[in-house]
Amino acid sequence: MQIHDKQFSLFIPADEIHARIAELGASLTLRYSTRNPVFIVVLNGAFVFAADLLRNFNGECELYFTRIRSYAGTTSGDIKDFTGFDESLANRHVIFIEDIIDTGKTIYYLLAEIKKYRPASITTVALLQKTIMRSFETSADHIGFEIPDEFVVGYGLDYDGLGRNLKDIWKVI
Ligand code: IMP
Ligand code: MG
Repeated sequence: MQIHDKQFSLFIPADEIHARIAELGASLTLRYSTRNPVFIVVLNGAFVFAADLLRNFNGECELYFTRIRSYAGTTSGDIKDFTGFDESLANRHVIFIEDIIDTGKTIYYLLAEIKKYRPASITTVALLQKTIMRSFETSADHIGFEIPDEFVVGYGLDYDGLGRNLKDIWKVI
């Protein structure tokens, strides 16, 4: 399959993604079902994952969105266009939903920002985490799949704007 100038091959099929998300939802339910957590979806990439994860969470919960950008093409760059958080997060249990942790820069930045709002607790869930020496020493608390350091698209993730609508996850050849 081709997007822009690059070729991709099938990496994680939709049924495997859904099975893993059911497990992630079950473990979040165990821990948070009576705490009315606030899920914060990190746009744009996490929107598909969040929609499936939320429907696998059993209990009262709220949903907010924030937007942040750091990637250009297939490489990590400076943090841009951060839209911030809602004011009402004090004493709430916050669960970040991220699509992928690569260098760790984005999640490191978000964790530093959220602490200013004094939430009761902070947890991070990432569908994918690359197995690399991260320049920012942060790892998600809950991870769908550990993957090699290769560029992936689909299931919400894009390559320069394209590929977010693909049902499966594809990796660059
Ligand atoms: P980090 O700040 O380097 O950890 O990168 C995190 C963000 O970069 C993610 O939220 C994605 O939006 C984007 N990103 C990182 N790796 C990939 C990839 O392989 N494909 C698509 N987007 C990626
Ligand atoms: Mg993202």
